[in-house]
Amino acid sequence: MRIICDRCKSKAIITTTRELTPQFRKLYCACTNPECGHTFVVNVEFSHTLSPSALDLPDTVRQALRSCSTPTQARQVLAG
Ligand SMILES: [Zn+2]
Repeated sequence: MRIICDRCKSKAIITTTRELTPQFRKLYCACTNPECGHTFVVNVEFSHTLSPSALDLPDTVRQALRSCSTPTQARQVLAG
């Protein structure tokens, strides 16, 4: 994940990450521009799911997907 300093638009490095919840992290960042030296915190928050995780599928479906060798077969498993 690339963090840009909001003050000078240079690349910043993430020095520390604090995971408050699995969906919310605080990134402690330091600007790499020696003339700037800005240190700041960026919040990273999960928004919403676009396509559900395959990990949430029932075990039987996941096992069937593992035996598929083509995307077409996988689609048939998911449609069935
Ligand atoms: Zn900066």
